[in-house]
Amino acid sequence: MTETPTTETTSRSTLATANPATGEPVGSWAVDGPEQVAAVVARARRAARTWEDLGFTGRKRALLRWAGRIVADIDEFRALVSAENGKPLDDAEVEILTAVEHLAWAAKNAGKVLKTEKVWPGAMLSNHQAVIEHRPHGVVGVIGPWNYPVYTPNGSIAYALAAGNTVVFKPSELTTAIGHWYVESFARANPELPTGILAVVSGYGDTGRALVESDVDMIAFTGSTATGKRIAAAAAERLIPVVLECGGKDAAIVAEDADIVAAADAIAWSAMANSGQTCVGAERCYVVESVLEEFLAELTKKVADLTPGVGEGASYGPMTLPSQVEVVARHVKDALAKGAKAVVGGEDSIRAPFVSPVVLLDAPEDSEAVVEETFGPTLTVRGVRDVDEAIRLANDSRYGLASSVYSRRNGMAIARRLRAGATSINSPAAYAAIAALPFGGVGESGIGRIHGPEGLRGFTRTHSIARQKYQLPGMALLSFDRTPETTGLLRKVASLRYRAK
Ligand code: NAD
Repeated sequence: MTETPTTETTSRSTLATANPATGEPVGSWAVDGPEQVAAVVARARRAARTWEDLGFTGRKRALLRWAGRIVADIDEFRALVSAENGKPLDDAEVEILTAVEHLAWAAKNAGKVLKTEKVWPGAMLSNHQAVIEHRPHGVVGVIGPWNYPVYTPNGSIAYALAAGNTVVFKPSELTTAIGHWYVESFARANPELPTGILAVVSGYGDTGRALVESDVDMIAFTGSTATGKRIAAAAAERLIPVVLECGGKDAAIVAEDADIVAAADAIAWSAMANSGQTCVGAERCYVVESVLEEFLAELTKKVADLTPGVGEGASYGPMTLPSQVEVVARHVKDALAKGAKAVVGGEDSIRAPFVSPVVLLDAPEDSEAVVEETFGPTLTVRGVRDVDEAIRLANDSRYGLASSVYSRRNGMAIARRLRAGATSINSPAAYAAIAALPFGGVGESGIGRIHGPEGLRGFTRTHSIARQKYQLPGMALLSFDRTPETTGLLRKVASLRYRAK
């Protein structure tokens, strides 16, 4: 394995990033410690009043101006995303544009989703008006990963801002320049707004920890399950809410009535695009035996031509996180040693920082390649008796992020039986690009939802308000003046409304 550039060699007081394919430096920053983080959070808190006071309409305008700024500057932004993360320019552009869709959706829908709701107070308290209000938490700390360095943190940041919070963002140490560009573009789009509505802090895991332990009111995290658990434990100390978007081991199911050519195309992309560094990428594939041979032939055709590299013609880029190459190598080796057959590629496909596609047939269900998140351009495939067996195996995972189903007639019925936060039918990961759909996992894939109405509500605290409009004569219910007649009347009404059958 060739030595790849890594930020680990940099001293901990500074952070430098480099192009993962070429080693070319991208940027360097001073690492923010607890004091600096506290100062940025304090500034965000001072800005919170201005931002909240803008209301839904004012915030919508500011967020849409930001969306417009990002699109206007997309050539510069996609070049930076490609340089620092390693993905091809075109993939960087699709990622940015998907993030912009989410930003616009959050901006346009926050007012509708979070408006005050009137609810029926019930017969006993019918002299009250009852309303539910959704208030911003205040300052939200957002901690992001490197694999989709714009789309993933934006899925929290756009929704948190639209809901009226200010945000302090800690991007991954591998994609810090991207994080800074994104945050600065908000200020470029909105020069009249005070600084601190959206701010960035730079650093490694310790800076993330300082953010969790700071005065923030909520943490939205996207990253590995191991870090997610640490963050949940730290957040529990101050009992602040968390959204945790963690790892996955997503399964794809190919039923016997699937369009096999289309399924192979979709699964090849889902598993290999972005070098397989996609939290919702297919990593396991269960195919009904009767169509297995045909599926493998189509999949091989699709995958064999893919070439990782840099620049024009590259199907995908290098592995962004150097140490992940070793994980991929370990999983492939372990599966082959346990009897899996490499249908495409094999151990030789791993030439850091690039990994060519690897398709493993019949890796044992307890091998690392089937159980653990591989996060590389690899896919395990297993023939199954029927869809029931496919569903059982797909659900047999401690993760439950997303899944996909390929079937002409039974997609919905199969999807409903899958234990996952999201499922796409006859396409890969479409739910992630549809801003109106909530996104998040179950089990060790995380807690809470971003995106969609639930994503907006998740960045608010519910405030229930009951206003007494007038006093009911002789009905002092919540008072020491209550009389036995009042209780008797209540009893009578209850026995009329709820008769024993
Ligand atoms: P990671 O957990 O190593 O790091 C994520 C972020 O957490 C980084 O910014 C890091 O500096 C920070 N961090 C590390 N230790 C911390 C601590 N103790 N306290 C606070 N912050 C800390 O994850 P990664 O390698 O950057 O990202 C890859 C992982 O992210 C994969 O597991 C992938 O599945 C997952 N992911 C999930 C989703 C999703 O939506 N569910 C999306 C993208 C990526």
